[in-house]
Amino acid sequence: MSQQMDLIEMETLGNFVNGAFAASSSERKAAIYNPATGQQIAEVTLSSAEEARDVIKKAADAFPAWSQTSPLKRARVLFRFKELIEKNMDELAALISKEHGKTLPDAKGEMTRGLEVVEFACGIPHLLKGEQSMNVGTGVDSWSMMTPLGVCAGIVPFNFPAMVPMWMFPVALACGNTFILKPSEKVPSTALRMAELLTEAGLPDGVFSIVNGDKEVVDVLLTHDQVEAISFVGSTPVAEYIYNTGCAHGKRIQALGGAKNHMVIMPDANLDEAADALLGAAYGAAGERCMAISVAVPVGEETAERLIEKLKPRVERLKIGPGISESANDMGPLISKQHRDKVVGYINKGVEEGAKLVIDGRALVVEGHEEGYFVGGSLFDHVTPEMAVYKEEIFGPVLSVCRVGTFKDAVELINAHEYGNGTALFTRDGKSAREFAQHIQVGMVGINVPVPVPMAFHSFGGWKRSLFGPLHMHGPDGVRFYTRMKMVTSRWNEHDSSQSVFTMPTMK
Ligand code: NAD
Repeated sequence: MSQQMDLIEMETLGNFVNGAFAASSSERKAAIYNPATGQQIAEVTLSSAEEARDVIKKAADAFPAWSQTSPLKRARVLFRFKELIEKNMDELAALISKEHGKTLPDAKGEMTRGLEVVEFACGIPHLLKGEQSMNVGTGVDSWSMMTPLGVCAGIVPFNFPAMVPMWMFPVALACGNTFILKPSEKVPSTALRMAELLTEAGLPDGVFSIVNGDKEVVDVLLTHDQVEAISFVGSTPVAEYIYNTGCAHGKRIQALGGAKNHMVIMPDANLDEAADALLGAAYGAAGERCMAISVAVPVGEETAERLIEKLKPRVERLKIGPGISESANDMGPLISKQHRDKVVGYINKGVEEGAKLVIDGRALVVEGHEEGYFVGGSLFDHVTPEMAVYKEEIFGPVLSVCRVGTFKDAVELINAHEYGNGTALFTRDGKSAREFAQHIQVGMVGINVPVPVPMAFHSFGGWKRSLFGPLHMHGPDGVRFYTRMKMVTSRWNEHDSSQSVFTMPTMK
């Protein structure tokens, strides 16, 4: 039986330490479910603090040799990893879909976006070149070195089991760090399989490890002396906790949080195009994307009426079912029963608060998958800024239409929201587009692009309470995050023993 079959059939998933799967001695476990059926399919170990400390020690031991490996050789491991991901794409996508519930094409899309970061990291030697200035003083030269930090850790959410870890570890490793990943306890299998592929690609033991667990493990990573930097992606309360605790313990932190992304539809927009764009952006992956559009903001009553008219039949036509299926479904189930109940709770709340529920997905039952965690595409109209369905992140297939009178009102509405991850404007007018891009207080902006996720060679990150820390993920910010600059100033000239220097050396 192949190793990959072992992984799928393994009842209890453990850790990945020193280049191999490692069973955990912890008694604490979390159940893993297939969200399309509601059946438990495996369990994962919630490692102890002691196990986490042991993984950190191994990562610290592996650091000196890996950091001294030439950047070209490090990149070559990633080139081989890229090939292995491509070769095993179907299997990895099936693992994602089975644990997360998203459709297979969506799972492949996620793998592809992650792969783009691997491709970016393959070219990192070019970005690790320092700067040099000759003759800053007589016989004095200066140059900078981009040096790795040491042990870095990543703590990731359930909604992108492959892509979010791949925002982090390819860049961290290519820069010469060792890396410890703490996957979401709901979807740990894909990360474990990627760890195995990294070893197959030639990554030395201890350079990449996985420690499965919950807050107990996270708290060790946040406070341990030998962890230099932490990348986090997840909900805002946890992101804030990670940032505050990690900073208080002297770590470098980038912590990406939750979102409430608005799409403004101007009266001059092509409304068929806008409605089609909204459908994928709001309901793709059942709305469990940090860049999902959850609020549509039509400008003017007429635009709002026409938009609702176009959206209604489209939302009603959504094909909902298991992610792995013969029929090409548009979206799958939510991640867990608790999360489905939370999303249904928000829909109930929206009705109580007086929003108009145009399409109600609460009662959806998928034939043959009666125990699955499905919620149908839901659409609210007349949502107002003081309602919980507007203010809070629902993270489900629920689109709220929040009507405004003018373009200025739309900009003010978005700028007043606590989150600032992504946003979009649909228009034919270049002036509004330009103004929007300049004045909107959001980190990632789309003009006629509903989900403006930056490419791997740019950086990904929101503003306001969607990101804690100064640096975004991957791209140039990723390289800055995972390296520390050292400046060297050197003099190579004849020694004149009669002169000590009491002024600045560059004065001469
Ligand atoms: P989550 O915050 O519950 O969990 C994220 C990670 O933190 C997991 O690994 C989890 O084990 C750990 N964790 C949870 N509670 C913790 C605690 N009290 N102390 C320490 N660690 C803890 O998030 P989730 O439900 O897995 O993911 C969904 C959230 O992630 C949404 O809010 C979504 O917007 C956000 N997200 C943001 C981005 C982004 O780029 N900004 C991307 C993807 C997801």
